[in-house]
Amino acid sequence: MKQNNRDCKIVQDLLPNYIENLTDEVTNEFIEEHIAKCPECAQVLKDMNGEIKLEQINQDKEIKYLKAIRRRVKRTIAIVSLLIIIIATCVVGYVYNKSQIQVNNYTFLRASYVVENQEGTKDGNLYGTLIAVIDENGICKSVRGVEEGYKEGSLQEQMKLIGRYADFYTNVMIINNELHYNTNIWNGLTKEELKKYWDENYTIDKLEEI
Ligand SMILES: [Zn+2]
Repeated sequence: MKQNNRDCKIVQDLLPNYIENLTDEVTNEFIEEHIAKCPECAQVLKDMNGEIKLEQINQDKEIKYLKAIRRRVKRTIAIVSLLIIIIATCVVGYVYNKSQIQVNNYTFLRASYVVENQEGTKDGNLYGTLIAVIDENGICKSVRGVEEGYKEGSLQEQMKLIGRYADFYTNVMIINNELHYNTNIWNGLTKEELKKYWDENYTIDKLEEI
């Protein structure tokens, strides 16, 4: 009985390590043999296991909770990252567009000309102005024309005449007894080609870059 009590004490001392698999094989055999024939120690083991189970359950709960937090953090990071990417894209796009506008360095070519002995004019002369928009590569993009000197009736007639060529003349309108129009007939010419053409085909009064 005394011997048995001593074994019980030893076994119960070893049980915590046994449960955690810290005991060696010989000790395990000794413990297991004793447990098999000692209900008291078997009960102690049972109780301890239960405690450990409980601990494990609590640990699992904790892990699940931490995992849930981690998931939430990950999701938040994903959303914030997405927002940052969207905002950054907008900012970059805005800055790029702005720089594009600044890079578009348009210049203008303005020619004043006179057409003498023009029918329907007040003093026999038609006074015209052409303004070409030249892009940064020196290419004509558009020309705005203004003609003045027409008598009232001729002004209307001239507007109708130009209006018929809608492929070449747009935005034809009368402003302050002047005929205004846009024309694309010189689009694509270089500035030098345009200067030469105007010089050869109009009685140019003044030709300047503005
Ligand atoms: Zn025992």
